[in-house]
Amino acid sequence: MSNFIDRLSYFTKSPDTFSDGHGITTDESRSWEKAYRGRSSHDKVVRSAHGVNCTGSCSWKIYVKNGLVTWETQQTDYPKTRPDLPNHEPRGCARGASYSWYLYSAARLKYPLVRGKLLASWRQAKAEFPDPVDAWGSIVSDPKKAREYKKARGLGGFVRAEWDEVNEITAASNVYTAKEFGPDRIIGFHRSRPCRWFLTLPAAVICR
Ligand code: SF4
Repeated sequence: MSNFIDRLSYFTKSPDTFSDGHGITTDESRSWEKAYRGRSSHDKVVRSAHGVNCTGSCSWKIYVKNGLVTWETQQTDYPKTRPDLPNHEPRGCARGASYSWYLYSAARLKYPLVRGKLLASWRQAKAEFPDPVDAWGSIVSDPKKAREYKKARGLGGFVRAEWDEVNEITAASNVYTAKEFGPDRIIGFHRSRPCRWFLTLPAAVICR
């Protein structure tokens, strides 16, 4: 029977009972349950983690259907560190457990963003200095220009940029810093994803 007919006739039914009236037998359509079963269906399980500004090293079982991540559960096969220590699992956090929901979210960032003040300054510097390292140097060595983009921190104002452009900013700023202050002044937090370079920029570019 359809859900519509079930709802119309719900209060007129006299279902059979069992267990001294504690249970009833129904003949309602259960087709709606397919949606729940479909939500958990998958055609393969792969191992992965997340790159969301955390350590990014918890191990997860990723359930995939038609090439899309549908859900995930914790892996529980971490090697034991020492016999007298408890094992790690479950190690993943709540954010990781819901990651498959925002993997395809409309709110997810898909392009690099740079704080508008810095991008404007960069484009102007690039027009004056063909060498990107010189261009970056002209911004950070000028107290007025440096203060201009740094004081915009915390105020939002991000604008979309191109990958080539942000890669150039990243490279130029790293080279400039290494030349000016030494390579040990460069610190990054890299994993498999290109987005991890955002920490090498002065809080200007975010990517997730
Ligand atoms: S479970 Fe949490 S801490 Fe672990 S990788 Fe995923 S988001 Fe990071």
